[in-house]
Amino acid sequence: MSTEAEVVGPFRRFRRSVMRSVLTRVATVYVAGDDVQDARRVADTWARRGIPATFGFWDDGRDTPRDVANQYLLGLDALRPEEYLSIKLTALDYSEALLEELAERAAQRHLRLHFDSMYPDTVDRTRALVTAFAARWGSKFPIGFTLPGRWARSLDDAAWACELRLPVRVVKGQFPAEPAVDPIEGFDHLIEALAGKAAHVAVATHDPELGERSLRRLAEKGTSRELELLHGLPMRKSLRAAEVLGEKVRVYIGYGRAHVPYAVSKVMENPKMMMWMARDLLHL
Ligand SMILES: Cc1cc2nc3c(=O)[nH]c(=O)nc-3n(C[C@H](O)[C@H](O)[C@H](O)COP(=O)(O)OP(=O)(O)OC[C@H]3O[C@@H](n4cnc5c(N)ncnc54)[C@H](O)[C@@H]3O)c2cc1C
Repeated sequence: MSTEAEVVGPFRRFRRSVMRSVLTRVATVYVAGDDVQDARRVADTWARRGIPATFGFWDDGRDTPRDVANQYLLGLDALRPEEYLSIKLTALDYSEALLEELAERAAQRHLRLHFDSMYPDTVDRTRALVTAFAARWGSKFPIGFTLPGRWARSLDDAAWACELRLPVRVVKGQFPAEPAVDPIEGFDHLIEALAGKAAHVAVATHDPELGERSLRRLAEKGTSRELELLHGLPMRKSLRAAEVLGEKVRVYIGYGRAHVPYAVSKVMENPKMMMWMARDLLHL
């Protein structure tokens, strides 16, 4: 006879696979799409509400660094002056030649290039490359860096970013590192370290309370700031909090084949999001 675990296991797997396919359908409403035209179309709808975008092309295993750089170049061409491009150095395989091409294009229109944060073991290499890159291009256009709250090292990276006057984005962080830091506590500590010192801070969280207290703290210290939200995740409460505080908001528009699985996995991690998404759909 089958044990309970043997029956429940397949049932759970079946339920998860049904949920995943339903969510993949739902995600098509929320996710920008595969290419830069899709991202532009979505960004235009936000722009009509006075909310600028950052574009982030999400590559998958099939894209070579050259393909990714081509997508980034198209992204730069499609941006409005108040928008910026988010890039993943790992997807460019740290190629200085490809970065140079992007820099030349960004410099023509003074558009910000922002480095997304990836795995913990990529940070030393990224930071070294960004230091050299900022020395060469920092006067031509802004260069941004992302700081995950769940990494102990981020406080040191924050001090370095303040010294170089880099605009930063603070996130909880997708990828854990040792020693483990509570992502919310780490986020709070980073905001404290950046308030009054950073050139500009993007508070990038869908957690309305964390977002609100971070924006308040930065405002108290007179630090340039904005709330950054991912297009495709629930955001009604966060938008409302920013509006009440009179704070600026930006949306990160992820596009490309890899974005749908990311959005779906976020909802699978926290099924309550389904309900928030439904509420957002009714209100927005
Ligand atoms: C703009 C942006 C850029 C990012 N860039 C990077 C990057 O470069 N590298 C990286 O590793 N990660 C990045 N991330 C992802 C980030 O690290 C987190 O994994 C992700 O944002 C989830 O954390 P969170 O703080 O947004 O929300 P969660 O940890 O998912 O928490 C959300 C919490 O907020 C509350 N909440 C949210 N919405 C509602 C609602 N409607 N009603 C009630 N309660 C609600 C709930 O308490 C919930 O638990 C980025 C995120 C954003 C927003």
